[in-house]
Amino acid sequence: MSDTTRKSPVTKRLAANYRFGDPIPPLLYEISREGRRAVRLPECDVPQTDLPGELLRADDDPLRLPEVSEQDVVRHFTRLSHANMAIDTTFYPLGSCTMKYNPKVNEFAASHPAFANGHPLVRDEDAQGSLAIMYRLQEMLGEISGLPAVSLQPAAGAQGELTGILMIRAWHESRKDTRRSKILVPDSAHGTNPATVTMAGYETVEIPSDANGNVDLDALRAACDETVAGLMITNPNTVGLFETQIEDVVAAVHSCGGLVYGDGANLNAILGIVRPGDLGIDVMHFNLHKTFSTPHGGGGPGAGPVAANETLAPFLPGPVVDRSGERYGFRQPEQSIGRLKAFHGNFGMLLRAYVYIRMHGPEGLRAISENAVINANYLRKLTEKTFPTKYRRTCMHEFVSPGNRYEGISTMDIAKRLLDYGFHAPTVYFPLIVRDALMVEPTESENRETLEVFAEVLERIVTEATERPELLHEAPVSTPVRRLDEVAAVKNLKLRYER
Ligand SMILES: *Cc1c(COP(=O)(O)O)cnc(C)c1O
Repeated sequence: MSDTTRKSPVTKRLAANYRFGDPIPPLLYEISREGRRAVRLPECDVPQTDLPGELLRADDDPLRLPEVSEQDVVRHFTRLSHANMAIDTTFYPLGSCTMKYNPKVNEFAASHPAFANGHPLVRDEDAQGSLAIMYRLQEMLGEISGLPAVSLQPAAGAQGELTGILMIRAWHESRKDTRRSKILVPDSAHGTNPATVTMAGYETVEIPSDANGNVDLDALRAACDETVAGLMITNPNTVGLFETQIEDVVAAVHSCGGLVYGDGANLNAILGIVRPGDLGIDVMHFNLHKTFSTPHGGGGPGAGPVAANETLAPFLPGPVVDRSGERYGFRQPEQSIGRLKAFHGNFGMLLRAYVYIRMHGPEGLRAISENAVINANYLRKLTEKTFPTKYRRTCMHEFVSPGNRYEGISTMDIAKRLLDYGFHAPTVYFPLIVRDALMVEPTESENRETLEVFAEVLERIVTEATERPELLHEAPVSTPVRRLDEVAAVKNLKLRYER
């Protein structure tokens, strides 16, 4: 054989180690060849200066970046983008997270240079358009919630919670009421609620749920006294059920001098139908990345604006946007708890949510919630045989079933097997009041066919559970990585390429 047909040593090594399903061509670092380029930089046309020696990389310490073509780069990152499950590729019924479709028109608006190039330190006069968007979003969220004073500062739901509880604290302190040390939290609450309470310097008092999955009103009344600063409540709650006695719950807390925080993560069930402010909630957060379709990106930017009634409005974090005639500017509320976020919150997210709300209008928002509730109830009915819910009630936008109904098969097994069928798993093992929970939230953006296929796949998995349980124990078998130690995966995150 002549030298001209000899294969590259890299190819030989890769071919020897090839495993079925490996990408061809392989990963960037393996196909790197000295001198391969994706772009060619123009000749330098400015005078060169000498950098101080200590700033220069030593000749024996090269940068070790892969040298590849543009096509190689595109294939590499496109492939990586497919290694994860995403709302753009599959049904993602992650309960409590409202993983709805993120309309592409949001991205169009957010990438418009007039917004995207705005610098946070620009003068107010030069950012009137962006300020107008923020002002109108404040107004719209105020109208949607029935709580007219809004701050867009917090960066997530959890930070919104902390904001709200710090506001409640500041209000008690402003009245020299210093006896209050406790916040009541139902046992169905999201873990961020008690964490917030602790961060705000209070003590959590857990309130049990009754047989219908609602707050146990007698237990709540018994806990209400002059040491209670407030209550945190999610409505509909995390088992997907409307708190039917919410007005009595609020009255009980108010009558002992406490205030009520509304965890707005489940707002997708009640848009345009009922307003938390009208139910007596004093302050709440919105998760723009849940209800209002902004992306949940790998822990990336979220937004958790907070809305308050008149009592708590002066304590909102600032700056908030105000209007005087046709001019928009920033203002710090009189008794503000201060700043929660550098600059003006995650503006790109605020803009996306603004577009989404404007696109739908009041009727459209109501339709969103109606369809979210219909979809959840349709899927609940379709899965009633395989995974009946713990509380046999009409649900709101999500439902929760014990996932451990099949001998020797765990909730985790079911969730992992769903990945092999191309679905993202539901939320598992939360909320804690349903043992081994499977929590399914279809959202309004899924069509009927998807829900029906999902229900059928659950039936197939249940058949597998009895006929070939080992399949479920091994699942997932088709994903780029198999069953991980999830705690270790988070604690020892490996972001470096190694083979
Ligand atoms: C998601 C969620 C939160 C926290 O919101 P983040 O935006 O993730 O910080 C709080 N409560 C409930 C019920 C949630 O589902």
